Amino acid sequence: MSTSKEYPGNLFVVAAPSGAGKSSLVKALLELDSHVHPSISHTTRAPRGQEKHGREYFFASESEFDAMVASDAFVEWALVHGNRYGTSKKSIEERIAQGNDVILEIDFQGALQIKAAFANAVLVFVLPPSWDELRSRLERRGEDSSEVIQMRLRNAKAEMAQVHKFDFVIINELFERALFDLKAIAHAQRLKYAAQRRARSETFELLNIP
Ligand code: GDP
Ligand code: ADP
Ligand code: 5GP
Repeated sequence: MSTSKEYPGNLFVVAAPSGAGKSSLVKALLELDSHVHPSISHTTRAPRGQEKHGREYFFASESEFDAMVASDAFVEWALVHGNRYGTSKKSIEERIAQGNDVILEIDFQGALQIKAAFANAVLVFVLPPSWDELRSRLERRGEDSSEVIQMRLRNAKAEMAQVHKFDFVIINELFERALFDLKAIAHAQRLKYAAQRRARSETFELLNIP
């Protein structure tokens, strides 16, 4: 069964264990590439210090989240580290239908749901260079309690076991190198035949390519 739809914009899905550097990489890509837009997820998690409603997330109560699930407002949602997170249809469909690229920073369960709904979605998994480095990044970020950090590290093992289901793997050791890799993935999608045919139709016409 395939309910997959085709849109002119690309859908990039970035997953990683917490602390691998996914948010930092996506943020840096968004600053460099104005054709890529973020999808803002809904979550039942409480906001961290600097987080703003509508910027990092739409923060929702359990009942607000329930109402969105009931009204089929999500393309995907999942329980991650004890909280629910979801991508609304609204946050992606309009943009990719207009030919813009959208990037999702979501967990692996959501990534696989997105691939089922959008077969052309590009799935990228970010790995840390080591367990020690993953732990020290979570500690250095200083946003989560030690209990939450312990839970995120426990969950990381099962998450990383899913990496073989993804299209691309980035090892985030040197940040600039990892960012280069993410840019290369986005760039390569735009060189695919269907994308070039749309973006450079005048060249195809000049060359009389049917
Ligand atoms: P969060 O989403 O609120 O957790 O914030 P991030 O962790 O995404 O980013 C925190 C800051 O660290 C941002 O300003 C990033 O650009 C910056 N940053 C992340 N990784 C690196 C790195 O490897 N090197 C440097 N120099 N800066 C980094
Ligand atoms: P995630 O979104 O995957 O949970 P973050 O982007 O919040 O991870 O990164 C976790 C912490 O690690 C942040 O403090 C970030 O600044 C830092 N970080 C990210 N990439 C690197 C890197 N290549 N080298 C060192 N620190 C990094
Ligand atoms: P954090 O609380 O650190 O912002 O995110 C925790 C986890 O939830 C991360 O693995 C992140 O990718 C995931 N996540 C964030 N938004 C979504 C979403 O909309 N859907 C799904 N499935 N996971 C999400």
